[in-house]
Amino acid sequence: LNRRLAEFGTTVFAEMSALAVSTGSINLGQGFPDTDGPEEIREAAVRALRDGRGNQYPPGPGIPELRQAVAAHQLRRYGLSYDPDTEVLITAGATEAIAAALLALVEPGDEVIALEPYYDSYAACIAMAGGTRVPVTLRPHIEDEEAAFRLDLDELRATVTDRTRLLLINTPHNPTGTVLTREELAAIAELAVERDLLVVTDEVYEHLVFDDAEHIPLATFPGMRERTVTIGSAGKTFSFTGWKVGWITASPGLVTAVRSAKQFLTYVSSGPFQYAVAEALALPESYFTAFREDMRARREVLAEGLAEAGFRVFRPAGTYFITTDIRPLGETDGYAFCRFLPDRAGVVAIPNAVFYDHRAEGAPFVRFAFCKQPTVLQEAAERLKALA
Ligand code: GLN
Repeated sequence: LNRRLAEFGTTVFAEMSALAVSTGSINLGQGFPDTDGPEEIREAAVRALRDGRGNQYPPGPGIPELRQAVAAHQLRRYGLSYDPDTEVLITAGATEAIAAALLALVEPGDEVIALEPYYDSYAACIAMAGGTRVPVTLRPHIEDEEAAFRLDLDELRATVTDRTRLLLINTPHNPTGTVLTREELAAIAELAVERDLLVVTDEVYEHLVFDDAEHIPLATFPGMRERTVTIGSAGKTFSFTGWKVGWITASPGLVTAVRSAKQFLTYVSSGPFQYAVAEALALPESYFTAFREDMRARREVLAEGLAEAGFRVFRPAGTYFITTDIRPLGETDGYAFCRFLPDRAGVVAIPNAVFYDHRAEGAPFVRFAFCKQPTVLQEAAERLKALA
């Protein structure tokens, strides 16, 4: 393994999901639903397969139907107008979109600022691009139960140097569940314009925001549309994480750049599934509302169970993850905790420390996924109560 990748080892998701299987534990680690997405969308994929649509290489930028559906979704929801022919690119999940964007836009030695804790592929992809990652830490605010991990805007501002090329933003944020507010996003946008930075924004949880929280794409702020690559994914919104259909929307120059990298990573992927996702994006608003409400109810079940089991719970404003603090249980090392949890309680979780450069900052935090059936969440909570 080369020096760029040597520090990364095996992704925590593979490690913890394997542990769930080998111990027969309930897997609240890796974020994937235990119920597949809509029947009619599965049928759409079967129809595409059967009718011979997408069984051979689809077009490099993605099939026109899906690019049009992505553009229509951005316009309908956010008033963002993108040309499906020049400003939309279909990718092999958000994962490839992140990789291709960083490989295309980062020069060796460029600094990339990311919100810490950060989704694990960010660090690896920045490294593969030869960039230097510069984390800005979201810190818990004890007085603020809701979305308690917040960005310090002064710190973000102070982190930008002459070598900063790109801001890598994620909202709603994995693993903390923070949804950046309009004020925070406006400040990020102002900074990006002032310092002439590119922005890659991972918005794969755009449909998973709860209560009063609102997802506002960074690309909607003044001066941002032309400097922002926005990333979306069907895996999260439609509960088909195995299909690996994602996309970016950006200005023609940025899409061309990202496509230059993407064409040599996978070239294309997921032919028949692209047709199905085009139909999914056109589902009526009631689908998205019901999905959000369903996940909100599951959040309540797990949050309550974790609190009763003695965890300090940071109730997330978005995503399907709950970050907890294990110190009230008399524990301080989340990694050690997640290693013994399957044996002691029959539950698998993710130690947030793996998403930090400043490991000590993340040590006491552990993430649980609630994209599971309520009965499964209840059973997990019962098992966790036995820890006390
Ligand atoms: N994004 C999901 C998570 O955060 C799964 C990621 C993965 O398996 N690579 O848990």
